[in-house]
Amino acid sequence: KRSLPSLLARTFVNTAEENGQQKLRIMQWNILAQALTQGDDNFILCPPAALQWDNRQLRVIEELVRFSPNIMCLQEVDMFQFLKDTLGQVGYEGIFTPKPSSPCTKFQNNMGSDGCAVFYQTDKLELLSHDSINLREKDEEETNQVAILCKFRLKSNQKVFYVSVCHLKAKSGYADLRHQQGKYLLKVLKKKVEAYPVLICGDFNAHPKEPVYAEFIKSDLGVTSAYSHLSTKGEEPNYTSWKIRGTPDGQKTESCKTIDYIWYSTDKASVAAVLDLPLPEAIGEARLPSFTYPSDHFSLVSDVVLNK
Ligand code: NDP
Ligand code: CA
Repeated sequence: KRSLPSLLARTFVNTAEENGQQKLRIMQWNILAQALTQGDDNFILCPPAALQWDNRQLRVIEELVRFSPNIMCLQEVDMFQFLKDTLGQVGYEGIFTPKPSSPCTKFQNNMGSDGCAVFYQTDKLELLSHDSINLREKDEEETNQVAILCKFRLKSNQKVFYVSVCHLKAKSGYADLRHQQGKYLLKVLKKKVEAYPVLICGDFNAHPKEPVYAEFIKSDLGVTSAYSHLSTKGEEPNYTSWKIRGTPDGQKTESCKTIDYIWYSTDKASVAAVLDLPLPEAIGEARLPSFTYPSDHFSLVSDVVLNK
């Protein structure tokens, strides 16, 4: 057995003056379904051993707990019971909504359907209610993508707020479907969240120029992307996901893009800090996943202050 190198180093960047207010640390992460590492993903430059569950499970847990988020919003969770058992030992409880027909289930020795999950620290937060949401298209047809909506109370100051996690349809050619799914989610949230702050975490599978991003920006829910504060220019980072896949004709395709977001209620919350993204030199030529990072998506972690 080889010894494991450290996970890619990351540090928090303060985006506002420290003012001693109570902060909520929230994580967004597409964890990478274990079944997909053995199936469709075809991460040809990643050492196969780094994709074996025996090795990967430690790294996944390490990344989840290393910054102690109060809330974890996750996609591609096909190992919910493992996470529930393991994170349960360090103070988290979780809920899970599988996709109606998960692509994971078509692979041999799969661990079950993948879906969205939310974990939260029970000493800090009380889960008041939660709903599973099946995302719909414009004609209200159900799709194979899901979201979760949770209502929480912060035990320290009794503040109530909502958290939603979603995973929109993947792949190019589906920008319109993602747009419709995002619109539907906004409609559901608008009805449910009333005057409370809301945080929306997701793998949108959409870069900032796609219609679904514009839809969120202009939405009357009133939300801003937390990671737009990482740069002083107010732009999204250059990437949240970076991978090289093999194609059926023996070629390689590289994909480096920003598709993951944490949205917050512009007038009811503010962002105190965001966790930076590793630099290209540190990530390495084979990109993600790797021995030093267990998913093809980076986690996003933000310290949020709930106000008003
Ligand atoms: P999506 O199209 O949204 O994608 C599913 C997963 O594939 C995502 O988690 C996505 O990751 C990943 N992905 C994205 N791009 C690629 C790529 N280029 N190569 C490999 N994987 C990629 O999921 P759907 O739910 O719409 O289903 C996907 C397919 O699976 C459909 O064709 C469906 O027919 C099939 N399916 C088969 C089943 C069976 O045979 N039993 C059961 C269910 C589905 P990310 O979000 O990180 O980009
Ligand atoms: Ca994926």
